[in-house]
Amino acid sequence: MTQPYEMDAAAWQSFAGELGEPAYRGDQVFRWLNRDLAASWDEMTNVPRPMRELLAERFPDAFATPAIVQTGDGGTTRKALFRLNGEALAETVLMAYPDRVTACISSQAGCGMGCPFCATGQMGLLRNLTAGEIVAQVIWAARELQTMTLPGDWPRRLSNIVFMGMGEPLANYDRVWSAVQRMHDPAGIGLSARSITISTIGVIPGIERLARESLPVTLALSLHAPADEVRDTLVPLNHRYPIADVLAAARRFRAAHGRRVSIEYAMIGGVNDSLDQANQLAVLLKGNDFHVNLIPLNPTPGFGAPATGGRGIEAFRDVLLRHGVNATIRRNRGTDIDAACGQLGARAAVAG
Ligand code: SAH
Ligand code: SF4
Repeated sequence: MTQPYEMDAAAWQSFAGELGEPAYRGDQVFRWLNRDLAASWDEMTNVPRPMRELLAERFPDAFATPAIVQTGDGGTTRKALFRLNGEALAETVLMAYPDRVTACISSQAGCGMGCPFCATGQMGLLRNLTAGEIVAQVIWAARELQTMTLPGDWPRRLSNIVFMGMGEPLANYDRVWSAVQRMHDPAGIGLSARSITISTIGVIPGIERLARESLPVTLALSLHAPADEVRDTLVPLNHRYPIADVLAAARRFRAAHGRRVSIEYAMIGGVNDSLDQANQLAVLLKGNDFHVNLIPLNPTPGFGAPATGGRGIEAFRDVLLRHGVNATIRRNRGTDIDAACGQLGARAAVAG
């Protein structure tokens, strides 16, 4: 979407050199883009006008705005659809809460993992997003937040990033990681590593790499079933990386970074929501390494099974709690604008 966001601070320094300007001019532009959320070159008042004009010529679409922005949840949720070059689309959801503001961002246009219950999976993989396209979603969210009307005591600063939009982040590792480093850079948005959550369907080599990184991001693992026979039908990658192996990798991540791993579990009626399965899950997750998020399935056009009802989810949670496993029920945000995780892309694919 925007090439200027492809460049980190060092790249901006050398680019300033190419334009015949001192390196610190590159730093200034980097900060305007990444920290001060500039929406035009003209705002960069400490950058000389001739350099701004050159940049405007070089990057005509630098401040591309989303094709569509929708508002939901009484004004506390916004969804943006970005049209990338070619056919690809990316979606970003901004969610304000009384104690935090979270941006749910995409790492790929579509996804190649083929989970049948997931709208993004039903699209297939269009392409990987670049690091700049990932960072630009965060910048959009931080800027958009300034225009939201929220209760006075709610925070006004973007505090959390979750890679729970479109795509499998660990299937696009290098670009995702370079975007994470940029979001963490104190000269940019400066988010803490812990407040950045990478959600994976269980790509073990990617989990192992994350465990070796020096930035301790938060890991979420989409498990969705306590037994391989069931998980095989929901998550095709389970044939390659079955439950025991994926949980062992998650425990190694926990040991390396001391961070509890979130287990994502979409509650699907008659498929993975029996109390028996809750017991099996509790046995698997014994100990203090995990926190389970139970999410009611978002119905999608390509998947027939229903969502588990509220009572059923509570009963499932209570079994986990009785076994000493941390568990919470996540209320879906953005269902009125198809912005909930797992819904992203479906409408756009149909309309576009
Ligand atoms: N590919 C990554 C991250 C994107 S999906 C992953 O799968 O973890 C973000 C979360 O939404 C994942 O936990 C995913 O399994 C879940 N999800 C996908 N489709 C869903 C649906 N229809 N209902 C509820 N959750 C869904
Ligand atoms: Fe891809 Fe995640 Fe959807 Fe599976 S659940 S298809 S990995 S986005």
